[in-house]
Amino acid sequence: MTTRFDLLVIGGGSGGLAHAQRAAEYGAKAAVVEYGPLGGTCVNVGCVPKKIMWYTAQHAHQFHHARDYGFDVAVNGHDWGALKARRDAYIKRLNGIYASNLDKRGVTHIEGGARFVDANTVEVEGREYQADRIVIATGGRPIVPDIPGAELGITSDDFFGLEERPQRVLIAGSGYVSVELAGVFNGLGSETHVVVRKDGVLRDFDKMLGTELMDAMRGSGIALDTGVVPSRVEQSDDGLVLHAGDGRTFGPVDCLLWAVGRSPNTETLDAAKAGVHMDDSGFVPVDEYQQTNVDNIFAIGDVTGRAALTPVAIAAGRRLADRLYGGMEGRHLEYRTIPTVIFSHPTIGTVGLTEDEARAEYGDDVKVYTSGFTGMYYALGDDKQRSVMKLITAGPDERVVGCHVIGEGADEMLQGFAVAVRMGATKADFDDTVAIHPTSAEELVTMR
Ligand SMILES: Cc1cc2nc3c(=O)[nH]c(=O)nc-3n(C[C@H](O)[C@H](O)[C@H](O)COP(=O)(O)OP(=O)(O)OC[C@H]3O[C@@H](n4cnc5c(N)ncnc54)[C@H](O)[C@@H]3O)c2cc1C
Repeated sequence: MTTRFDLLVIGGGSGGLAHAQRAAEYGAKAAVVEYGPLGGTCVNVGCVPKKIMWYTAQHAHQFHHARDYGFDVAVNGHDWGALKARRDAYIKRLNGIYASNLDKRGVTHIEGGARFVDANTVEVEGREYQADRIVIATGGRPIVPDIPGAELGITSDDFFGLEERPQRVLIAGSGYVSVELAGVFNGLGSETHVVVRKDGVLRDFDKMLGTELMDAMRGSGIALDTGVVPSRVEQSDDGLVLHAGDGRTFGPVDCLLWAVGRSPNTETLDAAKAGVHMDDSGFVPVDEYQQTNVDNIFAIGDVTGRAALTPVAIAAGRRLADRLYGGMEGRHLEYRTIPTVIFSHPTIGTVGLTEDEARAEYGDDVKVYTSGFTGMYYALGDDKQRSVMKLITAGPDERVVGCHVIGEGADEMLQGFAVAVRMGATKADFDDTVAIHPTSAEELVTMR
């Protein structure tokens, strides 16, 4: 027997859950198919456990600085296993909350892997389900490079399964996952080495951020090598050794972590049976309304290959439901001014255009303001961590089109500034805003 729904969402992660729940609130008979724990990447192996680990490393830093403030503190070690148990329990609670949220809204949870039969039908564990509309929200997973011995390394998914802290760690990759996990390992006492393929980290962001972060990482004891193209991994008597194409070797280490990108979860979907087009990497292209090339099939979140962030997946999912079931014609997500934070040590917050993007778009009509300083938090000790801020303006009215911050507190600072940038605030608006003193954020409204 085939069960019929108004809406069937494949994937119970950030985007899929947000979309199904909002659609159900409008009265749609909705179901979510999920083969893993509810909550997807963010809750289980992404943002949430990552932020817990960031807080953990942050504690280590604060214990270190406590002496500068007159405390006689001795840290007698850190119990990684105990932390993991608490973190896992927290995530289990969240999984339960997600299940009951579906329940409350009358959304059916179908457990198992979905594959398309045709444009209105999917099959899960041998049963067929039909729906007027189907939304693909299957997210992605970490890439392991195709080189000999690569399977000896772990990915960010496996990082969250580690029962104890490895003493010597090598991370391959230059994106935010690499620098965030490097900060965690280093903060908690692992000898940490990062290798990147090109000339630096965070190459998709404003150049200032990557340059400053590399200095800070090296300053905090992380070894960082550039131009490293991994060619093979071998298990030596003393640990794992990574060989690079140019003959350099890195290691031996106890843990090699690949943070070299993510690929979409689409190869088991049989999307071709529904006529859904995918690009060469398996991502599902969509228009600005999250519409695939098939009329009744939509895609949201990481699987679309755009701005792979939880709030983006959620916002796209909710807006799609508002439009399809809530009568809000034309409603869709504007992808241009998306703020984001990198939970490195120190943190980074960024919104809008990079300097290069602004110059490409506005030519000479661009002005850049920067400020570099040591925050007051570091005033009393020898550790003088820098904060650097950059405002990019365009046009004669100096509209702020980019705002980039690295340093203490950047993570909590940027959300409000993102509102201002999105609303089209000018440099004069920033300058006319009274500073909050003493903070680092006040620099953003006092730059000359
Ligand atoms: C280490 C790490 C840290 C991160 N930190 C942040 C952060 O700090 N802030 C932030 O905004 N973002 C962060 N992200 C990114 C964020 O997790 C993703 O952007 C977000 O989870 C995407 O949501 P989604 O709904 O598109 O996909 P997902 O959350 O990945 O959900 C997809 C779901 O679909 C399921 N699925 C796949 N195929 C099928 C199938 N055929 N049948 C049934 N179910 C299927 C999967 O099991 C999964 O649960 C991080 C990611 C990682 C890896």
